[in-house]
Amino acid sequence: MTPPLTRVRVLVLQHGLGALDYRVPPGLALQPGDIVRVPLGPREILGVVWEADRLPAKEVPVEKLRPVHGRYDAARIEAPLRRLIEWVADYYLAPPSAVLRMAISSPSALDGAREITEYRPTGTLPAKLTPQRLQAIEKLERRQGLVIELARHAEVSDAVIRGLVKAGAIEAIRVPADRPIPAPDPDFIVPVLEEGQQAAANALIEAVKVGAFAPYLLDGVTGSGKTEVYFEAVAEALRRGGQVLVLVPEIALTEPWLRRFEARFGCAPVAWHSDLRSTERRQAWRATANGEARVVVGARSALFLPYRDLRLVVVDEAHEPSFKQEEGVSYHARDVAVVRAQFEACPVVLATATPAIETRVQAERGRYVRLTLPQRYGGAQMPAIETIDLRKAPPPRGRWISPPLLAELEATLNRGDQALLFLNRRGYAPLTLCRACGERVDCPNCTAWLVEHRLTRRLQCHHCGFVTPPPKACPSCGEEDKLVPCGPGVERVAEEVAQVLPQARVAIVTSDTIWSPARAAALIRGVESGEINLLIGTQLVTKGYHFPNLTLVGVIDADLGLSGGDLRAAERTYQQIAQVAGRAGRGAKPGWVYLQTHQPEAAVIRALVEGDTEGFYTAETAARREHAMPPFGRLAGIVVSGPHEGEVIETARALGRVAPDLDGIGVLGPAPAPLAMLRGRHRHRLLVHARRSADIQGMLRDWLATVPVPSSVRVTVDVDPYSF
Ligand code: ADP
Ligand code: ZN
Repeated sequence: MTPPLTRVRVLVLQHGLGALDYRVPPGLALQPGDIVRVPLGPREILGVVWEADRLPAKEVPVEKLRPVHGRYDAARIEAPLRRLIEWVADYYLAPPSAVLRMAISSPSALDGAREITEYRPTGTLPAKLTPQRLQAIEKLERRQGLVIELARHAEVSDAVIRGLVKAGAIEAIRVPADRPIPAPDPDFIVPVLEEGQQAAANALIEAVKVGAFAPYLLDGVTGSGKTEVYFEAVAEALRRGGQVLVLVPEIALTEPWLRRFEARFGCAPVAWHSDLRSTERRQAWRATANGEARVVVGARSALFLPYRDLRLVVVDEAHEPSFKQEEGVSYHARDVAVVRAQFEACPVVLATATPAIETRVQAERGRYVRLTLPQRYGGAQMPAIETIDLRKAPPPRGRWISPPLLAELEATLNRGDQALLFLNRRGYAPLTLCRACGERVDCPNCTAWLVEHRLTRRLQCHHCGFVTPPPKACPSCGEEDKLVPCGPGVERVAEEVAQVLPQARVAIVTSDTIWSPARAAALIRGVESGEINLLIGTQLVTKGYHFPNLTLVGVIDADLGLSGGDLRAAERTYQQIAQVAGRAGRGAKPGWVYLQTHQPEAAVIRALVEGDTEGFYTAETAARREHAMPPFGRLAGIVVSGPHEGEVIETARALGRVAPDLDGIGVLGPAPAPLAMLRGRHRHRLLVHARRSADIQGMLRDWLATVPVPSSVRVTVDVDPYSF
């Protein structure tokens, strides 16, 4: 133990501030990592004691410093997490205090409250039933939480909820602040692994035993049983008394995963995601800090929890784009997971059937150990993939299912099997067009069309959430009844199915219909009981579901992701289609996949049909290398945004004018960003392209500091952008 400090440097949890020095009053012994209350002006704020030499602060003599008010004992921010916060702040050019906020994401968890007041529906209807009240009651079925949480969830104002409390339709209840957390049993039900699985599991178990940083790529085809493999490593970490973090891409995915976890370990893990009630959030945070939470499954933010003794990190479906955080501090959770494992000195497993090029290259370079599972579990065969050339077999006018696909669907459903139609577009139609004047109905806040959602009878912006009832008259020319939907969304495909496939019992699977684990559970029950025999969904259906009776997958528009010049267009298309195809034929019966396409000769479509994964990756990787694109070169996006276009353009140009002229670093732009307006802010963008060895962060820091930015303008940096 180092002797107690007399002055401390504290990273404060306060926007726009970094580290400040404080005096340690007598009787208080502080160490780096302690969470403390400190004065700031007239207020008291939270902060974490930091190593003085690792963060800069103003030099102030000790007698002028204000004293630390006190320390919280519920948690500490240990050295590995402090290193992670520094690393993320440094690498992604984020303020350390903003990164710290992700680690102390539940400040209420620090107090010692025993009980908390929550609210929940009573099941009785109020005498006066307004549409808002009805909406709230429908959305809140079995929901519980603080008033603001219920209001947010039901998309009504706090006043509506409080009105319902008065009317007796919602009641207040006291709940314990800390609920005991069950401990997963590593030996609850141990599966018998197949030979290939066992070999991979052994490597991971050994890595957990060694207890040193070791990154693994667990690369197994869809249905190969990757989860069972890494579960054995989880079990080993549990036997050793350690904690495990499993990152999953989306909350809707966790439901099937949770069931399997329970079957293997006898109880549920601790879940961590943005949709938790504040009480649950508080409990989960505390339990992570005190070590009671043995396994945490969560979305990317679970990376910043204050684990006490982390022995294993797993990133499931590691190829998923949703691991990339775009708002606030922008970071890639897959990459940060590897860094956290490094600081914690533990193994990390990236599990996926379709690794990102970046991940494959790391394995090729020998940085990650690649474990492969080339075969499906239990002798199941990989599905056969075929194309349907839409130029030769087009669907009838105004329809989207081609005659050959329709015939296959009929045969499948008539056999009593289940089928899946994939179209990565929510809603009814992506575009509403005026037949009189050609106007496309767009969002008032964004450069984006409004998407018609027929189930909820509204037009919606998928970028800012703007909604409006479908107009009767064209907003531009005023003509009535001239607006027509263009193109299909999943709801429109469902409408077509209702007309052409009377034997179909359809479930639409999108974030509009599966927004909670309970919804996902209901979907799984419906499919397993056979009540549902046709799923129509966006990329959400590709996630983690295992339906043995599902034997046919139809991809409505295999070309959808290929337009636009995005660097990852082909890779993403490959991943999406391979994943959705992977839902077919997972049980005893073989699966078939049909890709409707206008370009069956495109390299990515051919690779999918021929099953030539290696060929596809080799060609994509070579193209990246040739153009020094990631991971052979580096990119950073700089977005200048603000409400006044003039100021935005001026600032972006000013940045462009003083762009440093460094060897190995080039700056492109400024140009309007792909979403030139988002949430009412104009956006212009510069793109930095650098050699792999270049100090892109240093360059950005020096450069961005030179240009004054008007107060309404924001400059945000996106290091390693996913799309651009
Ligand atoms: P992947 O994640 O690789 O797509 P899954 O982990 O979903 O594959 O495995 C496919 C199915 O096979 C799941 O239902 C899983 O429970 C089952 N399975 C895999 N390995 C085993 C095993 N060793 N014993 C029993 N069932 C297994
Ligand atoms: Zn919008």
